[in-house]
Amino acid sequence: MPVQVVFRKTSLVDYPGVVSSVIFFYGCNLRCPWCHNGELVRSAGTGDAGTFPLAQALAHIERRRKLLGGVVLSGGEPTLFSGLGETIARIKSLGLPVKLDTNGMRPGTLKALFADPQTRPDYIAMDLKLAPERYAELLPGTDGEKDVSGEFLKRSAALLRASGITHEFRTLALPTPYFGDSDLAALAPLAGDSPWHIRPFVPGNCLDPAWDSAAIP
Ligand code: SF4
Repeated sequence: MPVQVVFRKTSLVDYPGVVSSVIFFYGCNLRCPWCHNGELVRSAGTGDAGTFPLAQALAHIERRRKLLGGVVLSGGEPTLFSGLGETIARIKSLGLPVKLDTNGMRPGTLKALFADPQTRPDYIAMDLKLAPERYAELLPGTDGEKDVSGEFLKRSAALLRASGITHEFRTLALPTPYFGDSDLAALAPLAGDSPWHIRPFVPGNCLDPAWDSAAIP
């Protein structure tokens, strides 16, 4: 079965200052209850409506490479995809920069990608969701990965800050009292002096429907 993705051919908002195509990979090693990408998180992307073969998406990008300024690899969590390095290398070989969106749970994968110029992303956006010690609250159920923790987040953030790659950290300002100043204080050292964008949470189509109402757990 060919690898299936969701493909947005043109975006003006996913790669700062760049007209991009966006490839969304299926699967995630977290289950943030407010997640707006439930269809990507719940499914393995095998034959679902709305999916697109990765090979076709890459062929489309190759045909339109002169019209694009870059390509975004997002999800779900793209570092779960075993062919990620190969995909980055192929896009970069077209002369297009690659932006990678990640939740930071796989520092080993990031380290390996960063080490090879062919697979080194040109821009990284990494989520800082909750205080690191709270990441166990975001673990998936029985089908989840075991290698998820705030310690991985800290390692990924440190790797990124030291990488020399253009990057940003991102945080959703979730409603209080679920999320608050203690989370921001715990995350600030991870962001360090890097750009850190805090955006408002907007309810709607959340993985846990309780988050679509005011009665958030
Ligand atoms: S890490 Fe991102 S894609 Fe995964 S569950 Fe959380 S918000 Fe959704």
